Amino acid sequence: MLILISDAFDESLPGILSKYGEVTDDKNRLAEADIVLIRSKTKVTKEYIDSAKNLKMVIRGGVGLDNVDLVYAKEKGIIVHNTADASTTAVAEMAFALMIALPNHITKADASMREGKWLKKELKRTELHGKTLGILGLGRIGLALAQRAQAFRMRVLGWHPDVYFTDWAEIIPTMEEVIQQSDFVSLHMPLLPSTKGIINKNTLAMFKDGAYLINTGRGKCVVEEDVVEALKSGKLAGFATDVWYSDPPENSPLFDAPNTIFTPHIGASTKENMIRIGIIIERLIADFVAENK
Ligand code: NAD
Repeated sequence: MLILISDAFDESLPGILSKYGEVTDDKNRLAEADIVLIRSKTKVTKEYIDSAKNLKMVIRGGVGLDNVDLVYAKEKGIIVHNTADASTTAVAEMAFALMIALPNHITKADASMREGKWLKKELKRTELHGKTLGILGLGRIGLALAQRAQAFRMRVLGWHPDVYFTDWAEIIPTMEEVIQQSDFVSLHMPLLPSTKGIINKNTLAMFKDGAYLINTGRGKCVVEEDVVEALKSGKLAGFATDVWYSDPPENSPLFDAPNTIFTPHIGASTKENMIRIGIIIERLIADFVAENK
């Protein structure tokens, strides 16, 4: 059996998996691979699947499966897994880090100090305590963020298609009402036809004046041009994003907008998460081998 490691994983993974077959990172051997391990970089398109003649299983280390043609994989009998539970803590901490950094001007303060400036009077901070956080998508990561926000004594509102009760947030019947009431809005829904561009000029108009938006979900859930307008007009006081239209972004208008913090899709990139992902991958491969003896 050939296991192709197509994207970056913990360096211990090839050694752990070697007991199940040959492990390679040589992408030229795709046609021979029984199992392919990906993160977000490899795009498992129809063409990719057609050139992987021997492929039986794809494992996405992480959550979002929007880089896999799930319909075509199913048609070809290829099993697709993600490692959904592994990344929750890493991404929730990332969203929280961005939510703290934005109103505290951490990146602006650091950059100005390095330029020899002393912006003590200019950099007025805002506390999270007592503010309202609206979480769109109360799945694993959204709920983990809600728990952390409760510890900061924020009021936490959530919107989700099929979550009606939770100890960690007030469930609000519509996304619009969450947006209207929130000082901070954090996005945690998957990229679906129904969520693509869900934050656009119409929904941004419903935000409180001077609200903050944080996106560690998927870049295409926001219309970047509309976010830029909202930042320039002051409708949004700040926007932090870890996720982009493409990795890396090409010609994003966000780079000309004020009051932003950008990170290069590192929400899941903790050492601890990479180890958890490896544990789940080994279990999935062990099960696959046992079932196909
Ligand atoms: P999850 O499946 O547990 O939660 C997402 C929830 O959003 C689901 O329960 C789904 O029912 C719900 N949902 C669907 N449509 C919605 C809508 N229109 N509005 C609100 N909610 C909606 O997934 P998760 O583990 O919490 O991850 C959430 C997303 O975070 C992933 O889909 C992925 O896109 C993103 N993510 C990003 C990173 C990163 O590195 N920044 C890492 C992991 C995951």
